[in-house]
Amino acid sequence: WQRLSGGLARTSQAITQGVTDIFTKRKLDALTLEELEDVLLRADLGVGASTRITQAVGKARYEKDIAPEEVRAILAREVEAVLEPVAKPFEIDEATKPFIILVVGVNGSGKTTTIAKLASKWTGEGKKVVLAAGDTFRAAAVAQLEVWGQRLGAEVVSGKEGADAAGLAFDAIARARETGADILLMDTAGRLQNRAELMAELEKIVRVMKKAEAAAPHAVLLVLDATVGQNALQQVEVFERIAGVTGLVMTKLDGTARGGILVAIAEAHGLPIHFIGVGEGADDLEPFTARDFARAIAG
Ligand code: GDP
Repeated sequence: WQRLSGGLARTSQAITQGVTDIFTKRKLDALTLEELEDVLLRADLGVGASTRITQAVGKARYEKDIAPEEVRAILAREVEAVLEPVAKPFEIDEATKPFIILVVGVNGSGKTTTIAKLASKWTGEGKKVVLAAGDTFRAAAVAQLEVWGQRLGAEVVSGKEGADAAGLAFDAIARARETGADILLMDTAGRLQNRAELMAELEKIVRVMKKAEAAAPHAVLLVLDATVGQNALQQVEVFERIAGVTGLVMTKLDGTARGGILVAIAEAHGLPIHFIGVGEGADDLEPFTARDFARAIAG
């Protein structure tokens, strides 16, 4: 809870300060509700959620004084209601070995770091994890994964710079099988500048994985950077089409006062949200739960 509420402090401060400013000794009426909606929009909750939440607050005690704490409590409840249907724990089927997870997202969104965080969590639970450095065009991304792999005791499968990522996927699955790994996490490139190329590459990776194992990949995690704001909504659409995303991870919530974007995404897409990133360290990944997130941002 400490890590979560600390990580969401900037968003929480923006919202709670806004609510306090608006409702200290003032009535709940059309004007104050409009101001509340502005606060929610500025925190990036999106038009749909902001309007609905504001309406729900409006129903509470119209034309009467209302304490900021009461408004925050209603806000927390409403945010939780939006998030509840999408907050799903990430489940690994223990019977499927290796459980193959493809990690996608635009460059810089935090894919490699998220892979390291997940690997840290699972190796900590005694699972054997193999990492595939599928962002073969960026030597730095491969090196970064290798450093993490060494630190965490997870084998990293990598190819030559510019090597075919699908070929690497094939090798990584073979290696994970050979070594009896529980989980294979595969990094990918995220060059959104060339969408056709990216699409071809991801499709090929999926095709090769399926050839190696019919049900693979068993999960496709899309990593989204919370600091890009509403752009994240488009990224979900693009990657859903290209890669058949099964769930989301939202990173860098510690770096923004606009963490409400997660609410906007929940409302717009309905894709499961599994984890949130609240820092750069290996432990800064939290399972996503509606109630805690709502409480953390409503203060
Ligand atoms: P990739 O290109 O998608 O693999 O992105 P990286 O994993 O290399 O991350 C890009 C930058 O974001 C790095 O400097 C990471 O340390 C940083 N980063 C990743 N996740 C988080 C997070 O949850 N919080 C913060 N503050 N930084 C993060």
